[in-house]
Amino acid sequence: MDLTKRRPAAAAAALHRSPRPRASSAAMEPEARRRACEEFRAKLCRDTGTNLTAAACEGLLGATFECQGGEQVSLQSNPGRFYSRLGEMISMTIVPDPARETTVTARTALFLNPKVAWWCYREAAEVHKHPGGMANLASCYYTGAGVEANPPEAVAWYHKAVGLGDPAAQATLGTFYLTGFAPGGVVKDAARAVELLDQAAEQGEFGALFPLADCYLTGEGVEKDAVHGVALLRQVIEKEDESTALAQATLASCYHHGDGVEADTVQAAAWCQQAATGGDAQAIEMLPIILQCFFCSATPARQLCNRCRKVRYCDRQCQLGHWNHETEPHKGHCHRAAEASQQEGHVGAPVGMYCMLLAICAKVL
Ligand SMILES: [Zn+2]
Ligand SMILES: [Zn+2]
Repeated sequence: MDLTKRRPAAAAAALHRSPRPRASSAAMEPEARRRACEEFRAKLCRDTGTNLTAAACEGLLGATFECQGGEQVSLQSNPGRFYSRLGEMISMTIVPDPARETTVTARTALFLNPKVAWWCYREAAEVHKHPGGMANLASCYYTGAGVEANPPEAVAWYHKAVGLGDPAAQATLGTFYLTGFAPGGVVKDAARAVELLDQAAEQGEFGALFPLADCYLTGEGVEKDAVHGVALLRQVIEKEDESTALAQATLASCYHHGDGVEADTVQAAAWCQQAATGGDAQAIEMLPIILQCFFCSATPARQLCNRCRKVRYCDRQCQLGHWNHETEPHKGHCHRAAEASQQEGHVGAPVGMYCMLLAICAKVL
């Protein structure tokens, strides 16, 4: 049932003439509004087994959402988006934030009722063909929120939403393809995963960034491009959320191995420390390894090569051992490392003086 199609033509015309969409729900004629509410209430109560008062239904239907760009979304202006947003509000998957995305300018009557949220998503998806509603509905079938979990149904809705270009669905289906999702009938296909994650990331879908970074860093499903992988990691770190610590730990590992960035023990240790503070288990394990002496592997090694500041040692003895190492002497690499370090704005000792000191020490020892 499409409520908008049931509206009397006169009421619909009156809405179109309304110069302020903000006032659209108020512009609905009382009789049409009452009928729409009654239909909504009957269908909602029948499908979800909930018992909503007429006043509560009135509250739900009268809600308007202020979306990005200041667009006011109401049942009259964009029913698909309206139902999808309403479901999100009810299930509290989005928190009203006046500074950023969504504000509810009318009171919604039912919070934290997953069954009603599922119903709103289904309305958005099935009746109004709204891509975001389809992705939300898919998520309900995936997690079993408000409806019995049904992985094949979830995957089918994700596919429909992807067909309409929904970024959240692209990201989720992308991660399904990355590992395979047998209950939903998805066979692992890393190339397809990267394709979907790339599309989602281009549309600014945050959830796609970390798995995509991982693909570029490991070369899974795409030609390895560690520099791009690191750039994606930095985007994840900038916007703090639950994947931040994992991204910091991964960045630490990149600095440790010189993957996509110049190897840099200071940066590696700093990022690893932050990730460990954030509770990342991988970082907690990695920290002692990152703090190892480059020459003898003892830990923790606190002294840095004070010229390039890229390698760490127990003491001057180990530093000299590395500087004059038989097969891979640090004196052959330090200059290049120091240049990179200066470009990154690290403060190092004056190069000439440092070389002189090392030369003197080498002779004395
Ligand atoms: Zn050492
Ligand atoms: Zn050095």
